[in-house]
Amino acid sequence: MTTQAFILGAGMTGLAAGLTSNLPIYEVADSPGGICSSYYVRPNAQERLADCPDDGEVYRFEIGGGHWIFGGDPAILHFIKSIAPIKSYKRHSSVYFADDDRYVPYPLQNHLRYMGSDVAAQVLHEIVIAPKNIPTTMSEWQLQSFGPTLTEKFFEPFHRLYTAGLHNRIAPQDAYKSPINISQVLNGTFNQAAPVGYNVTFVYPQDGLNTLAKQMALRCNVHYGKQVVHIDPQRRQVSFADGTAQSFEHLISTLPLNKMLEMTELAIDTEPDPYTSVLVLNIGAIKGPKCPPDHWLYNPDAKSGFHRVGFYSNVDASFLPQSSQSAGDRVSIYVERAYVGGQKPSTQEIQIYADAVVAELQQWQFISQPEVVDPTWIDVAYTWAWPDSSWKTNALRRLEEHGIFQVGRYGRWIFQGIADSIRDGFMVGGAFK
Ligand SMILES: Cc1cc2nc3c(=O)[nH]c(=O)nc-3n(C[C@H](O)[C@H](O)[C@H](O)COP(=O)(O)OP(=O)(O)OC[C@H]3O[C@@H](n4cnc5c(N)ncnc54)[C@H](O)[C@@H]3O)c2cc1C
Repeated sequence: MTTQAFILGAGMTGLAAGLTSNLPIYEVADSPGGICSSYYVRPNAQERLADCPDDGEVYRFEIGGGHWIFGGDPAILHFIKSIAPIKSYKRHSSVYFADDDRYVPYPLQNHLRYMGSDVAAQVLHEIVIAPKNIPTTMSEWQLQSFGPTLTEKFFEPFHRLYTAGLHNRIAPQDAYKSPINISQVLNGTFNQAAPVGYNVTFVYPQDGLNTLAKQMALRCNVHYGKQVVHIDPQRRQVSFADGTAQSFEHLISTLPLNKMLEMTELAIDTEPDPYTSVLVLNIGAIKGPKCPPDHWLYNPDAKSGFHRVGFYSNVDASFLPQSSQSAGDRVSIYVERAYVGGQKPSTQEIQIYADAVVAELQQWQFISQPEVVDPTWIDVAYTWAWPDSSWKTNALRRLEEHGIFQVGRYGRWIFQGIADSIRDGFMVGGAFK
């Protein structure tokens, strides 16, 4: 059967494209939202529940760890609000140096006075005199932006964990996440610094991220349980795991660019850009005596190897079982650890890692008794580029030659959040209406 065009993937991007185009969407999962979806687990249970039970005695987690909606075009935020009531929050995040039990508000470079006056003076001097060439790698960018002391103390060990060791070889990326402005650095060395960065405030649907995806899906024509396994670019035909096939004139794909090249078997004469996978560990636990109030922490020295720990319940108590929401005696946490793309640990390795994380969080006194420890593997989580790489441009062009238009964070191999994914989905969907 031939349909002029259809969409692959019912994550935020695919749903937005489906909304504006009315085209059918094919999705492997049995629910919408991709990694932007919530689930529920009762304390001391393992089963994931799709909906909150009537008694509310559950932790709410998200598949991909805490997903807070940052920035975005005002019109997109208006759209989100119109289908899923939201609450607004002011970011509260820090760098946590566990070895010194020291918290420094994010971004570190604007709060040097927390590092002690000698270190602050040294870092300030190094930032001012650092040579400003065009950096080729992420490591070079760190050194040029922040100088050797801050790089050694935080940026190098953090990025080593965050990029799974790729930071010495990949091109600099997303510098706006850690902006460097000398007057703000100076100000923060002596005074209270104003919050900066891409996520100073954020919003979140008051009944959970699921509500946004579900509301969008209600307005779309989604076919669930349809796993794309092969695409014949010459015959323009998509084959699904259930043995069915669908021909197309044009395809809107939100699937990762590297997976699309594999499935179409289209050859690109350049080395593929790298990516990192993330193992998200959702933890529900009795709160420890030193659990911080932050929404999330950046971790340069966690012995178990994670780079970020976030606290769902510090953002909103609704993530906790009903009976703990006012008492605040429990905490719900997400912990992220990066791996070089696709190098998934075995079940046994994940168990060993999960035990190590729980032990470390207990040692830091963030948690006492864990009640839920639940991992999710995100295969393509962060996309990177080799210096001067043309792989992405060539890959997108090659697919376009066969009527396949890639869109979204993974489709286009770019860093973007939910709001921008929705924006791009609307745009591409609109072009196919
Ligand atoms: C660890 C992490 C934390 C993040 N935190 C935030 C945050 O706090 N705030 C924020 O705004 N953004 C955050 N993001 C980014 C956000 O997750 C993305 O912007 C968003 O998920 C992109 O949506 P998408 O629809 O493009 O991709 P996806 O959500 O990946 O959607 C793709 C869809 O395609 C389906 N699919 C895949 N393969 C097949 C196949 N073979 N056949 C059929 N269907 C298939 C998938 O099941 C999925 O539903 C984070 C991302 C990560 C990895």
